[in-house]
Amino acid sequence: MSGSANAAGTTADAVDVLVVGAGVTGIYQLYRAREEGFSVQLLEAGDGVGGTWYWNRYPEARFDSESYTYGYLFSKELWEEWEWSERFTGQPENERYFNFVVDRFDLRRHIRFGVRVTAAEFDESAGIWTVRTDDGAEHRARFLVAATGVLSVPFIPEVPGREVFGGEQHHTGRWPQTPVDFTGKRVAIIGTGSSGVQIVPAIADQVASLTVYQRTPDWCTPLNNAPLTPQERAEIKADFERIRETLNTSPSGFLHALPSRFSTDDTAEQRQAFFEKMWNSPGFTKLTENYIDFTTNPEVNKEFCEFIADKIRGIVTDPATADKLIPKDHIYAGRRPPFVTGYFEAYNKPNVSLVALRETPIVRITETGIETAEGPREFDIIIWATGYDFGTGALNRLGVRGRNGLALEEYWSEGPNTYLGVTTAGFPNFFFPGGPHGALGNNPRYAGDQVDCVIGALVHARDNGYEVIEVDPAAEAEWTETVNSSGSLFLESSYFYGSNIPGKAVKQLLNPTGRPNLQRLIAELAANEYSAFILSKVEEAAA
Ligand code: NAP
Repeated sequence: MSGSANAAGTTADAVDVLVVGAGVTGIYQLYRAREEGFSVQLLEAGDGVGGTWYWNRYPEARFDSESYTYGYLFSKELWEEWEWSERFTGQPENERYFNFVVDRFDLRRHIRFGVRVTAAEFDESAGIWTVRTDDGAEHRARFLVAATGVLSVPFIPEVPGREVFGGEQHHTGRWPQTPVDFTGKRVAIIGTGSSGVQIVPAIADQVASLTVYQRTPDWCTPLNNAPLTPQERAEIKADFERIRETLNTSPSGFLHALPSRFSTDDTAEQRQAFFEKMWNSPGFTKLTENYIDFTTNPEVNKEFCEFIADKIRGIVTDPATADKLIPKDHIYAGRRPPFVTGYFEAYNKPNVSLVALRETPIVRITETGIETAEGPREFDIIIWATGYDFGTGALNRLGVRGRNGLALEEYWSEGPNTYLGVTTAGFPNFFFPGGPHGALGNNPRYAGDQVDCVIGALVHARDNGYEVIEVDPAAEAEWTETVNSSGSLFLESSYFYGSNIPGKAVKQLLNPTGRPNLQRLIAELAANEYSAFILSKVEEAAA
């Protein structure tokens, strides 16, 4: 069967593919499914597209991957029509981009906004997913693709008294549509990960006072953002094929050059000069273009950390504050490094102060502010920059039930079991590109690989007359074991293991084997006619 309007045997009222989430992955999934001739419906909880770039509209939210490496590569026309204004663009421009894409490819008519999925059950006798949304509607689909993202469920810690606070409270990942007015306000920000450190300098000049509550400092280095000059824009546009090829094959999904020297090739003085170059280079270059042995030789990593610590001491005028801002418990990239613009400088302003929570813990939130071991402070606004239920958070909340009514959250109670980070055994016709056990690096790139993998499988099933496709439990077990037994750069105490969420199983949530390995396995899967999957007709599958 060729690219007909419906997948094999889809009943009249069911679409072929139901996608959940209109973020960077969901939009691409919708595009690819339409291109392959499937009927598609996309359900989105927000009122607009963009996912992360819809919800995270806090001040100075911006890409820290170069924008033109984050955007889509599927259309040369799109590449040429869209103008990125900066190297790392901010949320408003990013959101505009996703809207542009959706309209450019006429995808909006397939999206229902403002509906949140509350349950999804697989009907084994029909080989169909029934999906319910919070508006009471029921949707039916042959294939269910949850493109719900890894950083989409905000986490707010259970600090006593949170509900009694009389001022405004916002989590970075659920920022209000109406801009928050910080003028002359007393503001507290809790959390100093990538989100918190972006906000601090963005509002420091507007507020009456800004108190930053920091539990663990991270190794922050400059983003080194800059406007793209007309010449750079023209060069990027003219170089589409080469850039696409590089991004499609890059281990990290960036355009950065590969490291070319071992730390031992250089003298101590040369290393300092190289670190200075890294400090002044854009975004993730500090990791991707650093010494070849940067992540394997603790000595060179320590030397880089000492270099950053010196920079912090040089920028922050109060030595006690500078010391608090220097990480003591992890090497560079032991946790996901944030990139900043004017972050350390903000602490030199008289209205900005830092509270180190390990020395001075929060006792409770009061009606008027925050009480720590040192006493209360009054605030008008509290910002929770306290992160996310990473990887599995959204999928475990979708109410997904597979064979025999098994709930996904129950099946994953000890951590996710996946095959290539795209599907899980016992949940036929269910896929989650861009979810847990993806790869590491520039998210749209490896998530795009996974979307391509899912589409390949769906097309294979349709073209060969199969209605039900599910991964062989043995293939899933093998991949999950590979992921769980692979060492990672990241500490178990980082959110990449789920350890930031009380009660969550501490398990590998990324795929540390990397994008090239993922790409190789996806290619092999297609070459082997999807032999890791059990493909069947509904009657066979039900039996
Ligand atoms: P995060 O990295 O998980 O940081 C959460 C912060 O909240 C940490 O400092 C954490 O401290 C703190 N925290 C958590 N629970 C706390 C508690 N009970 N009391 C006090 N502090 C608490 O979250 P995020 O900053 O939102 O960033 C998440 C990810 O989103 C990033 O790593 C990145 O991948 C992505 N992101 C990207 C950009 C970008 O520029 N493109 C911007 C923002 C976010 P501990 O470290 O001690 O747990």
